Amino acid sequence: MNRELTCIECPTGCAMTVAVEDGRAVRVEGNGCRRGRDYAVAEVEHPERLLTTTVPARGLSVRMVPVRTNRPIPRDTRADAMREIRKVLVSGPVKVGDVVLHNLLGLGVDVIATRAVS
Ligand code: SF4
Repeated sequence: MNRELTCIECPTGCAMTVAVEDGRAVRVEGNGCRRGRDYAVAEVEHPERLLTTTVPARGLSVRMVPVRTNRPIPRDTRADAMREIRKVLVSGPVKVGDVVLHNLLGLGVDVIATRAVS
């Protein structure tokens, strides 16, 4: 099976074709450099994404605070991550980058505010 991917590692945006066998990337074509190959292999074998969402606020000027993970997390942990994040309640002012949840699912990733709220 082949997967078509666009490299997002630089503005060139090389269109790549990845041959996939048993969940492994066995051949990458179309990449302009090694970074693209590494991106394609990681995207096929261990896809990760930043998780963005909102958490509720109490006693502040808004009812919801936008947040995101400070690093990408494995895509297959997304549902568990959302369950943990839903437990968060922000009850005091936050600045952009403030941690609202430490060490999400033990992944070494924090959930941070992406908007200042007071
Ligand atoms: S493969 Fe290399 S040159 Fe092409 S978009 Fe990715 S980083 Fe840029």
